[in-house]
Amino acid sequence: MDSSVKKAKILIVDDVKLNLDLMSSVLGQVPGYTTVCVQDGKSAIKKAKSNYFDLILLDIMMPEMDGFEVCHILKSYPTTKDIPIIFLTALSDPKNIQRAFQEGAVDYVSKPFSKEELIARINLHIQLKRTNEELVKAKKAAEAAAEAKAIFLANMSHEIRTPMNGIIGMVDILKRTPLSDEQKEYLQIIESSGENLLTIINDILDYSKIEAGRIELEKIPLDLKLEVNNVIKILQIQADRKGLPIKLNIEDNVPQYFIGDPVRIKQILINLINNAIKFTEEGEIRVHIENHGIKENKAELLFKVTDTGIGIPEEGKKRLFQSFSQVDKSTTRKFGGTGLGLAISKNLSEMMGGEIGVESETGVGSTFWFTLKLELTDKETYKESRKNDNVSKLKEKVKMKLNILLAEDNPINQKVAVVNLNNMGHKVDIAKNGKEAVEKFSRNEYDLIFMDIQMPEMDGIEATKKIREIEKERSVSRKIPIIAMTANTMEGDRENYLQSGMNDYVSKPFKQNELIAIFSKYAFA
Ligand code: ADP
Repeated sequence: MDSSVKKAKILIVDDVKLNLDLMSSVLGQVPGYTTVCVQDGKSAIKKAKSNYFDLILLDIMMPEMDGFEVCHILKSYPTTKDIPIIFLTALSDPKNIQRAFQEGAVDYVSKPFSKEELIARINLHIQLKRTNEELVKAKKAAEAAAEAKAIFLANMSHEIRTPMNGIIGMVDILKRTPLSDEQKEYLQIIESSGENLLTIINDILDYSKIEAGRIELEKIPLDLKLEVNNVIKILQIQADRKGLPIKLNIEDNVPQYFIGDPVRIKQILINLINNAIKFTEEGEIRVHIENHGIKENKAELLFKVTDTGIGIPEEGKKRLFQSFSQVDKSTTRKFGGTGLGLAISKNLSEMMGGEIGVESETGVGSTFWFTLKLELTDKETYKESRKNDNVSKLKEKVKMKLNILLAEDNPINQKVAVVNLNNMGHKVDIAKNGKEAVEKFSRNEYDLIFMDIQMPEMDGIEATKKIREIEKERSVSRKIPIIAMTANTMEGDRENYLQSGMNDYVSKPFKQNELIAIFSKYAFA
């Protein structure tokens, strides 16, 4: 007998004493088996509920409660539903056998049974049950590990983003002070390194959000031509360093205005074009967009990014879209990168109803393509949505000097926000936690509150709720705008902030332009 089937506890149910004695004596000879015998259905159910059994041998024909009924009850009870049941039947009537399986039996043995067959079947089902239990355990452990990993990654990137806020924010401030050319150059290096680091952190954060199924797509009107042109304009600066032109061709049948998530669409495109620049030494990069047809007000667009770079060998192509994978180990040494860009792009394109793929030849170049299904809209809807959105135009308009309450526990983040806001001519009062924010709010007059989410003593959500209560008691006519400041937004977070009574949020690290956009949105222009 298989060693893993040792120590099996079996419940035998038969109304005929002779049968019970026979079976328990047969099974009693098998080392490791323990048997418990009962003569009716009710006792069987009672025993099974109060003891652990590896398997039940159940007679069909019994007075009062037959085997089918017993089986039915056992299968509906949480602690007994997974015990394998083998029916003992003198009836070889196919209807009975069918019914036995319908009720949840795993097998049946016809009486008179052969001893070897009975033992073999019992062993098989106990083995199966144990394997199943192990699989369930392993699946649970894998799920828990995946979740722990996703949470760890999200927490880590949150922790890293907070000091990055200090670095990037301070560089932004320092840039606006008088500097020598040499200092400007050094500062630029700090700035671009900081921004590169932030890209990596954002990739890790995005990846962990995707893993945890917690990524959220926006649905806003967008001008595709404008967005694509902007992406290319920015990346052309990088490509110029290698002398690579980026050529754009958008076919005439591609509509211009859509409803979708411009940031995520650009993210895929940026990933692919960045790679094309990274892996190409000479030649050119071509970006091509075409329309594959419109169905139910959605256009299926095909985007292609073609380079004349190193290409990808056949065996590397399969791994490409998996997370953390690069074509070969030397890639990391030579080109850097996390191996997450394509995995994220794949997920994003799939979330937008599309696919992603590659055609490539070593030494000749690669074409990475992806499709998206995007809802159509018109120019008017787009224009309307943009009315209040142009930061550069609004910059001039934010002239009011505001009295701002900043609730933030981290001294570096406090400094970044205070210097930024002071530079813009605003007065800032600091609260070190939510409790202090509520106290300060109830004693003073402010125009706007910036509220960190994670703070000791009282978090930003609770503080906001308290402030809204105070306003209610005081029956104020104009509620104070409360803007969440957060280093980490997961799906659901935004709803949570808004539900607590916040008006909006800025994500850290923020720059002056984002603050200006917030002020103009809340009518301080
Ligand atoms: P990363 O570039 O950060 O390592 P990606 O997921 O964007 O991560 O890319 C994974 C790998 O795919 C790269 O490391 C590289 O080996 C290969 N790859 C991607 N794009 C290209 C390209 N245009 N030409 C050649 N190889 C590429």
